[in-house]
Formats: sequence, C-alpha cells, structure tokens
Amino acid sequence: MQQAMTNSEINTRFIFVTGGVTSSLGKGIISASLAKLLQARGYRVTIQKLDPYINIDPGTLNPYEHGECYVTEDGAETDLDLGHYERFLNTPTSQANNVTTGKIYQAVIEKERRGDYLGETVQVIPHITDEIKHRILLLGENNHYDFVITEIGGTVGDIESLPYIETIRQLKWELGTRSLVIHLTLIPYLAAAKELKTKPTQHSVKTMLEYGVHPDILVCRTEKPLNDGIRSKIALFCNVDASSVIESIDTNSIYKVPLLMKEEQLDRVVLKKTRAPALRAPRMKRWEQFIKKLESPKTVVNIGLIGKYVELVDSYKSIIESLIHAGTINNCRVDLRLIHSEHIGQENMEEKLRGISGVIVAPGFGDRGIDGKIAAITYVRKHNIPFFGICLGMQCAMVEFARNVLSLPDAHSTEMHPETPHPVIDIMEEQKKVHKKGGTMRLGAYPCALKNPSRAFTIYGQTNISERHRHRYELNNHYLELFEKSGLKATWINPESQLAEIVELEDHPWFIGVQFHPEYKSTVDTPHPLFIDFVRVSSMI
Ligand code: GLN
Repeated sequence: MQQAMTNSEINTRFIFVTGGVTSSLGKGIISASLAKLLQARGYRVTIQKLDPYINIDPGTLNPYEHGECYVTEDGAETDLDLGHYERFLNTPTSQANNVTTGKIYQAVIEKERRGDYLGETVQVIPHITDEIKHRILLLGENNHYDFVITEIGGTVGDIESLPYIETIRQLKWELGTRSLVIHLTLIPYLAAAKELKTKPTQHSVKTMLEYGVHPDILVCRTEKPLNDGIRSKIALFCNVDASSVIESIDTNSIYKVPLLMKEEQLDRVVLKKTRAPALRAPRMKRWEQFIKKLESPKTVVNIGLIGKYVELVDSYKSIIESLIHAGTINNCRVDLRLIHSEHIGQENMEEKLRGISGVIVAPGFGDRGIDGKIAAITYVRKHNIPFFGICLGMQCAMVEFARNVLSLPDAHSTEMHPETPHPVIDIMEEQKKVHKKGGTMRLGAYPCALKNPSRAFTIYGQTNISERHRHRYELNNHYLELFEKSGLKATWINPESQLAEIVELEDHPWFIGVQFHPEYKSTVDTPHPLFIDFVRVSSMI
C-alpha cells in the first residue's frame, strides 16, 4: 500500500484567506487574483473554498441564498467562487475544491458508524478539525501544486466558522513557513469625519488572535487610497510589517484586481513570507491586453437576460461573466438588461425588449415565470432577434415551437405539467428512479457530437466537444422528427444516449438552444465560442 506523505515531504505551500468585519468583501476575487499572479510567475496553483454551512453542497440551495450553483467538470455542484477561480486561472477545479461543513460532518459520522474511531468520543477537536485538515492537505498530495489557496467562507467571529479557524491554527503550527494567513478586512470611510477608520480591522484581527491565529498579511478593502500613516497604524496595531498591509481599493471590474494586487506586491510578500523560490516576475501581458480591450470598447450591444432570479445578479454570475469575456473579444461592451420572467407577457413584450439586440433565456427549475420565457421566445423567433436558450431556456424554446409552429397547444415539459398530452420535454430515463434531490441530476462534463450541418459547427470549428450539464429533463426524441421537419433541428447530440444537446432554428439570424451550460467554461483566456458568436451577431443587428 502506498504510504501517505508526511507533512515534511510535501513542498506545497498553503495560503489561507479569511474575512473580517463584514461579508461580501471579495475573498474569492482576492484569492483568485493572488492565484493568478502566482500562476503568472510559473507556479502551479489551485484554490479551494471551505463553506461553513451545513448543506452538503449548494446544489439544493435556492439561488437567492448564495447565488448561482457552479458545476465542475467532474460534476460537483459548488459555490460560485469556484467559477471565479476557473475564469481567472483557466484551469478546471473539482469535487475537492469545495468542501462544506455538511460534507465534513457526513464523512466523520460515516466513519463513526463504521467503527473507525474504535470507541473514542467523537468531537469537534480533533475529529472534525482532522477531517478539515485532511481535505486541505489532500490538494497538496504528490506535490501536484506549489500553492494551495484555501478560502474560508463567512466572517471571522461567526460560530459556524470556528472549527475552520481552529484548523488553520493547527496547520500553521505544523507547517510553519509553508503556510500563511491573509486576512481580508474593511477600512470604512466616514464621510462626516472625512477619515478612513482602522478600528474594525483592529477588532477583527484581535478576534483572530483570540483564536490563536496571527494573520500574516492584511488585505484592506477601501474606497479611498490608504496613505502611509494609515498603513503604519494598521501595521502597529495588528502586529504586521507595513509591507504586509495591502490596499484593495474599489474598482469597476473584478478583472482589474490581479493588476491592483500586483501593484501592491501581494504575490511578492507571499513568496517572501513562505520562503518560496522566486521563479520569475509575473507574466501578465495577456491579462493586461484583456483589460485594455475591456476598457476601450468600440461598440455597445444591448442583451436581455430573462430569468426568474434577476433580483440577485449573482444567480446568473457565470452567464454575466461569459458575456463580459465575449464582449471584450468583440471589442464591444455588453449592456445587460435583466428582465424578470414573471413580469413579461405578450402585452408588454415590445416595451420590455425595446432596444435589445439579443436575448438569453436563463436556466432554471420549476414553473414560476415559465409563461414569460415562452412568450419572449415567440417574440424573438418571429422578430428575428438573436436568441440563446440555456438549459431550461432551450427547453422553453422547444415548448414554444411545439405550441405555436407544430400546433400542439398543450405541449409542455413534464417538469411543469406532468400530465401534458404532448411531453416534448420529458424526464431522462435514468432520472425516473431517482428520488433524492441532492447531487442526483445529470451533472458535469459529457461528450457532444455533431449530427447535422450547423451554425454551431462553424462556431466550434470541430465535430466533438465536451460541455457541462445540470438537468433532469431532456428533449423527447419521440417528437424530434416533427421538430426537424419544421426547421428546428437537433444539430449536436450525446453520442451514447442520443440526447439532443444543441438545437438550432433554420432561417433565423441566430437561434440556438443548448441543453448544457456553456457559461461554466468561459474564462478570460478562452471565452466561450457560443457566447462570442452570439454577441458578435447581436452587435450587428
Ligand atoms: N429544470 C430543467 C431540468 O432539470 C432545466 C435545468 C437547468 O436549466 N439547469 O432539466
């Protein structure tokens, strides 16, 4: 049996990112930015998110809770921060990159039931903390990465993040200079006093110290630049050197943060503190070019995104970022109009879509807002407005076409109407016997092969692709011939199951529905071809 490596045999360095004062300071973006800079220096880096909630994964969470659920190649339903990691690093993450308290407890309780603890009392320390430790160190196994960056969800001081902070305390002790803690805090600006205030940061660091963890680097989120006086004050009160006080100033694009962190030398401080060999200066040319294009668009295109969670933009994070990538490549700024699917219908469609050059109908589950989506598809189909249907968006397009072109007025998806006489969208065969909700959909990457000559073939430029999925329902092949005769064709299919993966309408400027989620694969370095072409064609309308 292969022996597990001991800590001293692992060269990987472990960086922990915690948050203080308030949530939403952008730990995910800081983690991804640091990772980007280290990667640009030639290091192998991965990022992990530890979420303190008790759900096993965010798959069963309503998007209003934590935003979209991001799906990895290997089919993990994860926190949306993993999307940022992939978009910044251009390397895939996996199951191991997102761990929740639910997963930790599940593993420990399973071991206890198996008798693995040999009669011991099972406790938070050491059993839960050991399990957390194991999940962190796992990514360092075989020295596959030079750096593992672990972001701890929540805010220091929360009851639920305590076991994670305690684990960091233990690991810092065990790993010595091969680990460090970056604490992200807020330096609020009080307009009345015209002053930046350091007290919340002092208190937040004090809380960390009470738990036995001394942050090595403070990244200070601020709306005004930090002057030397403020930096020295923070350094003095928080036991760090002034070069470890890093300013993270508000900016209009998350993609500028790596460059801001480079200016602040966050990566250099990390290398110095972890005594990592400096390989080379970060090569950020491509990234800089991307920012340049992002900042100087030549045209503007108005895209409408129709969904039922539009009150919270995080619900559609990956789609929104994919449009930014695609716009940038097309030298064009995408102005996105989020349209609530419950607030549209035939009567106000023209007004709601006025000035819009392309429409995306979003993924989703359940009946709420479905009629608005279908009505919008009728409109864009008839008015030759580019249409991009993603997952549920594609399924709605099939229902719309069946009702209005194939003259099957009762057609529906069995998800919304189990008794429909025309189930053009039906539950997948292998899903029929599934009753549990968590992690049971068709998830992750599946191959997809060209079936008919198509626009998507021109777009992809290849005949075999792989895309990520998250669904239970599919196009009912029983109706396929009928659809195809009238011009709505399944142009790409899964080679094994014959499931339709891409559908396209003939004689329309751009009408494509995809059963998968292309938005999960768009990154700054490789924007997704379908989004690029959708934006390109929409910008010409
Ligand atoms: N609710 C649909 C299904 O399960 C679509 C899912 C989605 O849009 N991700 O098939």
